[in-house]
Amino acid sequence: MAERPDIEQRRVLTTAIPGPKSQAIHARRNAAVSLGVSSGLPAYIERGQGAILVDADGNQLIDLGSGIAVAGVGHAHPAITNAISEQAHDLIHTCFMVSPYESYVRLAEELNERTPGDFSKSTALFNSGAEAVENAIKVARLATGKTAIIVFDNAYHGRTNLTMALTAKNMPYKDRFGPFAPEVYRVPMSYPLRDSLSGADAAKLALDEIDVQVGSHNVAAVLIEPIQGEGGFIVPAPGFLPALSAWTKEKGIVFIADEVQTGFCRTGQWFACEDEGIIPDLIVTAKGIAGGMPLSGLTGRSELMDAVHAGGLGGTYAGNPVAVASALATIGVMDDERLVERAAQLGEIIRTRLEKLAADVDCIADVRGRGAMIAMELVKPGSLTPDAALTKTIVTKCGEQGVITLSCGTYGNVIRLLPPFIISDELLNEGLDAIEVALRSSI
Ligand SMILES: *Cc1c(COP(=O)(O)O)cnc(C)c1O
Repeated sequence: MAERPDIEQRRVLTTAIPGPKSQAIHARRNAAVSLGVSSGLPAYIERGQGAILVDADGNQLIDLGSGIAVAGVGHAHPAITNAISEQAHDLIHTCFMVSPYESYVRLAEELNERTPGDFSKSTALFNSGAEAVENAIKVARLATGKTAIIVFDNAYHGRTNLTMALTAKNMPYKDRFGPFAPEVYRVPMSYPLRDSLSGADAAKLALDEIDVQVGSHNVAAVLIEPIQGEGGFIVPAPGFLPALSAWTKEKGIVFIADEVQTGFCRTGQWFACEDEGIIPDLIVTAKGIAGGMPLSGLTGRSELMDAVHAGGLGGTYAGNPVAVASALATIGVMDDERLVERAAQLGEIIRTRLEKLAADVDCIADVRGRGAMIAMELVKPGSLTPDAALTKTIVTKCGEQGVITLSCGTYGNVIRLLPPFIISDELLNEGLDAIEVALRSSI
């Protein structure tokens, strides 16, 4: 393979974004790719390194989204690219269910070791977050012999049929894609900005609903993101998660943490659950787990995971050797480069800057999140009315200035930052400058 020159870690604008080459590809895309698949900024990317993406026109963009919390270790980290290319030379695929390999076992050991809880654990690997969530539900139902699954307002768990049922938001995820899987019940989520409830009171509201509308004896599992991702980086009030967790323990209900977005250093800890000492029975991982390769994991109490009959869990590509090699290398980089601590530092920088901005303008209702997962919620001044249009304008303007940001939120009014942990302070601040300029020029 030809040596490629390093990409300088700075923003470079060579054309308007999207430039002419990206626009030409975009025209082809609109003819060839289903319009049901959408992209934010139509700048077509050719290379990435560190926190910089280079598009077809040679623009260098600052990546503050990490491909939705995936590229935490940055793009083209040499430890990851080496692990991938070496593994590709040795073995690309056997299907673990046909002919197993040791690296799958090693990754399972790593996940069992690193996830909260010092009881005996087992892991199964899959390809995507949604697939791992589905398997968590399969395990919980089989192990408990019950069917009801409790999910929350604003939840996002994926786009497959079962996970559409688990996901809250209709557009764009569910609209006209039904019928949806049964036995899924949605209850209120703690949302301090909007419900003004303590964690204990918000939990009581949710648990009362479960008791009255579902009957706790029918519940197989409570499934929750410890910090909601697509739903708007909603951090539940302190005490909410511990109350739910205690209740599930008391009732013999499986507590499933969906840490697909929050896991693997993102919140300044290995897992967001650790913040309040929550020990889930099952924990779902994906996104940041494998440095960009498609991989997910389901890890949890052995007595639940091993209750499943042989052959009940699996998949042709699940735990693919190249993806597993990338995950093991990713874990190594996270340890060696102390990315847990770095994620926490990034959070301090982002939070300080956004809070300062929020104090100066009246369209930011809330700055929230943890570690390298911080967002601001945008509203019409003097109210809590969501301002999705302003959010969209800011994200678009940032893109035109070569800074990739993402929006989220049930009402589309949240700008979220998910930078790679290896980004420099300078580059991060340059990205935050662009966000500030875009916001101030839009209000
Ligand atoms: C992204 C996400 C999923 C779905 O993962 P895919 O790999 O896109 O299927 C599930 N849960 C959460 C919390 C997510 O952020």
